Amino acid sequence: MSVVISGGGPAGMMLGLVLARAGVEVTVLEKHGDFLRDFRGDTVHASTVRLMDELGLGRGFAALPQSRLGNLVVTVPGVGPVKLSSFDRLRAPYDHVAMIPQWDLLNFLVAQAQREPTFTVRMNTEATGLLRERGRVVGVRYRTRDGEEGELRAALTVAADGRHSTLRREAGLVPEEYPVPFDTWWFRLPRHAHERDVPPNLVPGFGRGDMALSLTRDDYFQIAYFRTKGADPQLRAEGIERFRERIALLLPQYADRVDQLASLDDVHLLDVRLNRLDRWYQDGLLLIGDAAHAMSPAGGVGINLAIQDAVAAATLLAEPLRRGRPTVAALARVQRRRWRPTVIVQRMQRVLHGVMFEPVLTGRRVGPPTRLALLARYVPGFRLLLSRMVAFGPLPEHAPAFARRDG
Ligand SMILES: Cc1cc2nc3c(=O)[nH]c(=O)nc-3n(C[C@H](O)[C@H](O)[C@H](O)COP(=O)(O)OP(=O)(O)OC[C@H]3O[C@@H](n4cnc5c(N)ncnc54)[C@H](O)[C@@H]3O)c2cc1C
Repeated sequence: MSVVISGGGPAGMMLGLVLARAGVEVTVLEKHGDFLRDFRGDTVHASTVRLMDELGLGRGFAALPQSRLGNLVVTVPGVGPVKLSSFDRLRAPYDHVAMIPQWDLLNFLVAQAQREPTFTVRMNTEATGLLRERGRVVGVRYRTRDGEEGELRAALTVAADGRHSTLRREAGLVPEEYPVPFDTWWFRLPRHAHERDVPPNLVPGFGRGDMALSLTRDDYFQIAYFRTKGADPQLRAEGIERFRERIALLLPQYADRVDQLASLDDVHLLDVRLNRLDRWYQDGLLLIGDAAHAMSPAGGVGINLAIQDAVAAATLLAEPLRRGRPTVAALARVQRRRWRPTVIVQRMQRVLHGVMFEPVLTGRRVGPPTRLALLARYVPGFRLLLSRMVAFGPLPEHAPAFARRDG
């Protein structure tokens, strides 16, 4: 039987690939013409790297342009530099977080999926609504960039269309929203030739009322600036000169290049959300990834969680799909399997919001959380536990036997 997936992000592409390996006819609809969209994180964690190996994609994945994230070191006033993570103590080869531009990862997944005869991707094609028959979802309506409209019928429709999911809205499903104290603004600053030898790292900068994080890319630094939610109009009213000053204060090592930001048009707002649906399915419809549970950037785990959802869904649904239409009970099993890891990770993100972000953004603290840093410094095993949680997350998935290939 056939599956239509709305959304060619990490969740949709991985689901398409794994289901196609089971011989299921899959069509992924992606509304954009390429994957070069707003920055949505680069981190590929050990759980995903291991999946790539299990799928026989390890060598191709390793050849993608990437860097390995070093340990996160923060400077605590009065204490000095403190290492918060110990990825180097995890068991090789799954002892790191890889930083890969998301478009490279998605292009790689599409190329692999296209080797399967039952996989189709339709770029520039937006799912606009659900087809229903006798209350059951039986496919989607779509519109191409050229304005052509059509319908695609399927035994199963999957909404993997992200935080602002159209199909979720069409299904009448409303997620519970958890308050998020910050928004994120993204921009790039150049990386000079003499800085190329510096190992890639996450470099935080703390102010009174704002903070920033620098991520190293091949020829530039990707900067995330954090401030209280809803501050965008004020930030834009203050103008580019004030913004440059703020960045130079937070990350003084880049003070020599903040004038490369020509205007605030170079600074992109991403409205951060954290939410979760109570029910991830209806008869004929399944929601996975951010469409079911939007993740905040805290901990940088959303891509990996979306991929884990996809692998779990393919594992549980390949056989029912081979036999016909999956029942509602089969769809419910996917939610049951992914519910606990999702809740645990979202709870941890809310703790991080409260401990790491809120005190800084409300001006109550300048610098990283001292207690967390002291725990990392003095409690044996804490750093390793934290690193393991970030690298693998709770209840990580493995590739199902039907999708495994030799590398
Ligand atoms: C500021 C920010 C930074 C982040 N940083 C990180 C990080 O460093 N590491 C990390 O792991 N996670 C990070 N995340 C979280 C991560 O981006 C998401 O959790 C993850 O991308 C979810 O994957 P997804 O496939 O479910 O959805 P998405 O990645 O949102 O993909 C959805 C896809 O569906 C397409 N689409 C949307 N609507 C339609 C439609 N109607 N029809 C067809 N196609 C459609 C979109 O174009 C998109 O390609 C960050 C999130 C934010 C907001």
